[in-house]
Amino acid sequence: METTGLDGYRDRIIEIFMLSLSKRGEVEEYGTLINPERPLPEKITEITGLRDSDLAHAPAEREVAAEIREFVGHATPVAHNLSFDLRFLNSMFKRNNLLELVSGGIDTLSISRALFPKLCIYPQGGGSHRLSNLMYHFGLQDSYANSHRAKDDVMLLVEVFRCLQDYASGKSGISFPEAAIQGCPACGSAMYVEYQDGQTILSCKKQPSCAAKLVV
Ligand SMILES: [Zn+2]
Repeated sequence: METTGLDGYRDRIIEIFMLSLSKRGEVEEYGTLINPERPLPEKITEITGLRDSDLAHAPAEREVAAEIREFVGHATPVAHNLSFDLRFLNSMFKRNNLLELVSGGIDTLSISRALFPKLCIYPQGGGSHRLSNLMYHFGLQDSYANSHRAKDDVMLLVEVFRCLQDYASGKSGISFPEAAIQGCPACGSAMYVEYQDGQTILSCKKQPSCAAKLVV
């Protein structure tokens, strides 16, 4: 989802996209823009590319909250930083007298932190456990544009979730250099990935105070 800000209670959802995958393999999707009935902060337009004019004719949350609640139903939610999404959803449900979701579900951010305690930071990854960084980590960048719009993020999330599961179960056969997932061998900080002359170099995030550099 995209939102007007980070506060799950004061801010509002402006775009939501959900994909429902059943055990039998059926796929359903639901997506809508939502008019927050307030001006968008400039920063949000910068990040999402959405402008006030894009949302002016979108339904208000009171018009879509019930169908969003119905779509979620009793499914197990999966999201990257699930508690963020749950806060926004539940405050919207509450404002509209709908049943809130119980906390629980699958948080790919927690899984990533557990599997890769000090995940290295790729040049355009945006930060260690960001979904976009995981996209580079699993080499998905050619198939998944990192446009920061709700639908693209969900498509990427499904693929990252699959990669995390395969990695955790040992099915993927991928292995990563120790320092890329456990951090700097000298100080334990995450490392930056750089590409130089066809080589992949990991350098410590704490540089210059830590000068650790590895060619992997
Ligand atoms: Zn270091």
